[in-house]
Amino acid sequence: MIPFNRAVYLPKAKEYVGETLESSKIAGDGKYTRLCTRWMEERFCAAKILLTTSCTAALEMCAILLDIQPGDEVILPSYTFVTTANAFVLRGARAVFVDIRPDTMNIDETKIEAAITERTKAIVAVHYAGVACEMDTIMEIAGRYRLPVVEDAAQGVMAFYKGRALGTIGTFGCYSFHETKNYTMGEGGALIINDETYIERAEILREKGTNRARFYRGMVDKYSWMDIGSSYLPSEINAALLYAQLEIADEINDYRRNVWDQYYEQLKLLPAELPFVPGECVHNAHMFYVKVRNLSERQSVIGALGEQGIGAVFHYVPLHSSPGGRKFGRFFGEDCYTTKESCRLFRLPMWYGLEPEEVRTVVKKLEEALAKVRVAE
Ligand SMILES: *Cc1c(COP(=O)(O)O)cnc(C)c1O
Repeated sequence: MIPFNRAVYLPKAKEYVGETLESSKIAGDGKYTRLCTRWMEERFCAAKILLTTSCTAALEMCAILLDIQPGDEVILPSYTFVTTANAFVLRGARAVFVDIRPDTMNIDETKIEAAITERTKAIVAVHYAGVACEMDTIMEIAGRYRLPVVEDAAQGVMAFYKGRALGTIGTFGCYSFHETKNYTMGEGGALIINDETYIERAEILREKGTNRARFYRGMVDKYSWMDIGSSYLPSEINAALLYAQLEIADEINDYRRNVWDQYYEQLKLLPAELPFVPGECVHNAHMFYVKVRNLSERQSVIGALGEQGIGAVFHYVPLHSSPGGRKFGRFFGEDCYTTKESCRLFRLPMWYGLEPEEVRTVVKKLEEALAKVRVAE
């Protein structure tokens, strides 16, 4: 059995979590939250990072910080996770979906400008598979229209675009530390604030609308209700779990990159399409996907691999074709690639600790499955 994903497990995490439990300081914003935050701010050259309870929470914070109102529009790809849209829809916005590029599965930067209207309040760039969107172009368009850019970098921790960490290029960046991501705290995420004018309000928003963060730093002598807000800070137990992984982030990243390279090398002659990484992008091996000819071929291959105990899985059903997407959004322009490319893509097992022998097994079974499906035609 080779499952699709296995969360990182480190003995060190047990030690840090144990220490946290014994200290009885298990609420948020303690020692390990500070260690995680400082580690990421330094490593990614970020002005300010706040740990959150999820990437979804970080996206919701962006929508509130950008003062999204009913009737506003937000531009994003349809090929993404539900919460990329829902965080803004929760504030009353309409999702305006733009087609993706077939090579990276990222939003097609050349189709964004035409989708902008007077109601557009933000552009959301999703870095699929930890491969960056064409950020120079996106930032240039956003600059001309004075629009903020939110990077959904849920899959992009430790990935770079022209030397800059994903999540640090737009107005805000959002990371996920969910169980399925490269680094995990079970459920968790982070908000990266690249425009310093938003820092104070973001801290208040995350702390139930109070200025408790400033109080703890001794900047005010009592803390008060200041603004709207919610509870978006994770517990120290989660942060302790994450910190053990950040300490060896390079080792985890190198390991995943190595698995990715093994897949690429062994599958490059497969009559199917493999991921493309533009020259200016350094990816983090968040996933290894394969694109076959069509939906039925994909389903047959996933089924055949499943019978062999191999966890291959498809990915997003385009949001515009779902009930929520039809209710809360619209597709702008023509859907040339979103539907066509998404329905022929599937992902192979990828995790820290996946053995070379297991990679060879996946490759062999995939080759057999694809050959069988094509003979059957
Ligand atoms: C995983 C993921 C999310 C959601 O992350 P959570 O931490 O589970 O909220 C959002 N967007 C993308 C692109 C993701 O891959």
